[in-house]
Amino acid sequence: MTRLEEYTPIVGQSVIDDLRLLAERLQGKLIQHINSTAVGGGVAEILNRMVPLLKELGVATRWDVIKGGEQFFSVTKKFHNALHGRPEELNRHDFDVFKETSAKNIEEVDTCGDIVFVHDPQPIMLIEKRRDNKWLWRCHIDVSNPEQQVWDFLMDFLVRYDSAVFSAPSFSRKLPIRQFLIAPSIDPLSDKNKELPPEYIDAVLKKYAIPADKPIITQISRFDRLKDPLGVIAAYQKVKRYIDCRLVLAGGGAADDPEGVQVLAEVQEKAKHDENIHVLLLAQNDLEVNALQRASTIIMQKSLKEGFGLTVSEALWKGKPVVASNVGGIPLQIKHKYSGLLCHSIDGAAFALKQMLNSPEYAKKMGENGREHIRNNFLLTRHLRDYMLLFLSLYHGEDVVNL
Ligand code: UDP
Repeated sequence: MTRLEEYTPIVGQSVIDDLRLLAERLQGKLIQHINSTAVGGGVAEILNRMVPLLKELGVATRWDVIKGGEQFFSVTKKFHNALHGRPEELNRHDFDVFKETSAKNIEEVDTCGDIVFVHDPQPIMLIEKRRDNKWLWRCHIDVSNPEQQVWDFLMDFLVRYDSAVFSAPSFSRKLPIRQFLIAPSIDPLSDKNKELPPEYIDAVLKKYAIPADKPIITQISRFDRLKDPLGVIAAYQKVKRYIDCRLVLAGGGAADDPEGVQVLAEVQEKAKHDENIHVLLLAQNDLEVNALQRASTIIMQKSLKEGFGLTVSEALWKGKPVVASNVGGIPLQIKHKYSGLLCHSIDGAAFALKQMLNSPEYAKKMGENGREHIRNNFLLTRHLRDYMLLFLSLYHGEDVVNL
């Protein structure tokens, strides 16, 4: 069985047939993805799975990663926060650093694709290399309320792209170029999401010295302020007064996220007097993340801002009850009280956690509903279809793509 065929039992034959049909129409085109990290974070997560499948479908595809030093990634992290609407001090030097590193990448990265698909702000200046090929800018960030200075800076480059792609309707901006709304996805067959034997899950709990003696609440995220790990601890502490439980806060760093070390130290400080809080610094290990999610009673994602929130899809696909903030792409995934509980504050999160812990049947039903919602909307096969339609549409002007 080819890898593509392995998706048939999950999504049905017609979905796979559609993908083959679309791929045929893309013969002769080279698709080139460009981003800023090969590991860590949602973008790399998706590309690692999508690129091989596009190739298997016969669509010529390559993936390039730009280079940048610590200074560059500190600046792009500030950009990231500013685009999410967080006030950031950005000075002239920051923009110079961005431009200097971009100039090196402009020299070094070969943008030979027929379609150059640039992900997020870090590589955006590569558009300087535009010739007669097509250029797409894929924004994974919620830019509904960006800090103006950074947005204006990026706009100078963005308007030179053919089209922009956003993850959710609420993220889009008024732009003079075409826009597409395409939600991200998870891969049900990846190490991150595939079924696991119970013995393996137990072994991972053992490895991290987490006893399975009481309910486990887990948030898996980069140690980033916007993921609000301290808020997660505060919510857990409110729950713990009434219901005995454990909290797992697990995350690794992404190569393009220098803020993580400091946030991790703050989390460790706040957790140090409670042996029921397990703070885990994970090396990139998808099977372990999968096992920790499956071992959990409830998954949290208490982000203050979020792009799409792949961790929510991952948890729901595993049938887990999820408590998550009503931000970014999370409400696309969770319909409140149907496929999870949405919250807006620490108190709200604590209330939702108690509700789920006190009503396991209700929680289970929400997890089951969530799994079906992910199957229908947020699996890799849907994402591949959307991207291929997008690629084709670039050659069809304003017309409908006729298959
Ligand atoms: N992730 C991981 N290890 C970690 C932390 C996160 O593998 O230590 C994964 C997580 O499972 C998810 C992705 O990284 O697949 C994070 O994507 P998300 O959209 O939730 O957030 P982002 O990091 O892109 O803001």
